[in-house]
Formats: sequence, C-alpha cells, structure tokens
Amino acid sequence: MKEKTKTYEKKLYANRLVPDGKAVYVVSGEESLRNRKRSAPPELSELANRLPVKTLLFARPAEPYSTIIEYLAANEAYAVFPDDSETRTFLVDLPVTDHFSADALAGPLSERKCLIIRGHGLSATGKTGPADAYVNFSAACFACFVKFFSDFLEDAHRHRITADQKKAFEQVLKNLSPAPAFTGGLTAAPVDTPEKARAAIIEAGKRIVALGLVDACFGNISRRMDNTLYISKTGSFLDDLKGDIAACPMDDPQCTGQRPSSEYPAHLAIYRSMDVMGILHGHPLFSVIMSMDCRIDCDHRGDCHRACPHERYIRDIPIVSGETGGGPFGLYKTVPGVIKEGNGAIVYGHGVFTATKTDFNEALARMVEIEQTCREEYFERLKHLGV
Ligand SMILES: [Zn+2]
Ligand SMILES: [Zn+2]
Repeated sequence: MKEKTKTYEKKLYANRLVPDGKAVYVVSGEESLRNRKRSAPPELSELANRLPVKTLLFARPAEPYSTIIEYLAANEAYAVFPDDSETRTFLVDLPVTDHFSADALAGPLSERKCLIIRGHGLSATGKTGPADAYVNFSAACFACFVKFFSDFLEDAHRHRITADQKKAFEQVLKNLSPAPAFTGGLTAAPVDTPEKARAAIIEAGKRIVALGLVDACFGNISRRMDNTLYISKTGSFLDDLKGDIAACPMDDPQCTGQRPSSEYPAHLAIYRSMDVMGILHGHPLFSVIMSMDCRIDCDHRGDCHRACPHERYIRDIPIVSGETGGGPFGLYKTVPGVIKEGNGAIVYGHGVFTATKTDFNEALARMVEIEQTCREEYFERLKHLGV
C-alpha cells in the first residue's frame, strides 16, 4: 500500500494539482502514529477509520485551483454543483463544510467522494485505495475549474459579475498555465505489429497527459491495425498504459473479456465511418468550458449534454451531445457524423475526439489546436462583452 500511495502522491505533484510535498494520504486501519509520520492530522486518521474506505487524501490544492475552490465554496451554502461529465459520472456534487473535524467530515464523505473544507482544502476518499482517491481529487479540481470559468462567462453575458468574482478571476489568471503547445516528435513509423501499435498508444498517452489535455484516469486512446483495434482499458491512466491496452477484434462490439475503455463503441463507430488509423479522446479544459457556452434558446436546457438537437460550432469545430458508452444516447451515434468535417469534435460538457490517418502527431496537434482555439475564443467573448 505504501508504494502505491507514493505513486499517486507523485502524480498529484507532477500534474500540478498540489504543491510539492503538501498532500496527505491517510491509510485506514493504520495507527495514528504511523499516519502521523505522513504528517496527517489525527482528525484524518480517526476519519479514515470511521469511513468504509481504504485511504483518505487531503490537501490544499495548488493555484489556481485553490483560489477557484475557495471562491466557489464561499458562494454556496452546502455544496458546489458543477455540470461537466466528470461530475456527472463520478462526483455528483461537491459538499462544503467549515469544520476540519472527523465529526464534520464523516457525514458528507460517507455520501460523496470529495468534500471542500472552506479555508483548508479538499478531502477525497479512496474506497479501493490511493488511485481512487487521486481520481476523485483530480476530478474535483477539473470540475471546479470548468465551473468557475463557465460561470464567469455566463455572468458576463448576463452583466452580473461581482467585484469579488472579478478579483478572484484576476487572481486565477495570474496562475493559469500557458496554453498547451505541441510541435510533434511522436514516433512516425508505420504500425505493422501489435507491439508497435501498443508502443504508439503508450507514447501518445504520456504526451496527452503531459500537455494537460486530460486528467486522472479519464480519456482514452486507440490504434487500428488491420481488423484489430488496440485501445486503452477502462479506468486506466493514460500516462501509464503498459499492460492496460485491450486488443479488440473489430467484429466484436463488446470486446468480450478485455475491459476496453467505456468509449470503445464510439471509437469503433469512428473507424467504421472513416478511414483513420488512430483516435485520441481527452478532456481539455477550455474545450469543455466553451462547449457549454450555448446561447441558443433550447428546449432541452438541462439535458443538452445528452440530447441537444441543435447543430453548433466553435469556429470550424463541431460540438455534439451524447453519453459515454453504448446506450441510446451514446457518443457512438453523434461523434462519427461530424468528426470528419471538423477534423475533430467536441462533446458538450465532456471533451474532445480527434483522429489521424497517419500517426498520433496529427491527432495530438489537432487536439492542441482545438484547445488553443477554444481558449482564444473564451477570452474573445469576454472582450466582446466588455469584461
Ligand atoms: Zn471522456
Ligand atoms: Zn440544447
């Protein structure tokens, strides 16, 4: 357990979610003394032993997340309600409390995966272990970032930005990472063996995470070779895919027994609809934020992530609705129809798909370009609105 805790602690620092050395992982069942060596406050040891979890993660997130989360929590009485796909799939909502005590934290954390403690930071549970706690913590940071920027733009449209909101926004901008940039460099060799297909996926996975285009265990990658589709497995971390790639025969829509990514149906449908060799799916922040800035007076408001009938674009990039998986509102029905036209597509409140006819350089370059475009467009819209 100790080894694994270290792995995910390092990921928190590498992905700039927590300042170096500042995360506290508490292992349930361990004596307070042992946990104290991890510099965990005794309240957390007590809490971990009360909850049905294997680990508990606590940290004040790094900037800009810290300012964002404190701002959102200061403006909600009981919980923050983000509206993106990671929240819908994972978190439900983010309860807020003021008291850093086992008693105050136990209730909300028995019902939710992550909790905001005003003035302190975030606590996330890990039912199955430190990886799970890491995913919940990361999803909370992602969700709050998206909500903060989405709300700001929405409030700009409605001319109701407050002085505190503007101040927090300016503070956040000071700590915003630069837009991702990509100049290629991934292996361009043709893929003619299963080993090369897997190696290409592993290499692209590391890069997509390093570029900040996806967080935790979200996103997925596939590479076609003849009639086999190599694809990252469900719940896998894209920066660490060794041993986590399924080899799915394309005539098997279930890819029986191999646990491929839950977006396997969408990948399969894209390969069937166009002549491409690789597909990337990430959750780039401004692409998600901009996909939710819809000014159409839509009857489906509240359900647009699933089934919005309106055709939308950000410049030349199509935006579609749809849910993960093979259900009636699955992305496998909406993405293939537009991805060719836009050389990529954004899914409402969720993320981006790009494809390549050659190697992953092309797909990654397009994803970076889509994210840059959305980021530019975000600040342009604010400027138009006089903010
Ligand atoms: Zn996704
Ligand atoms: Zn709609």
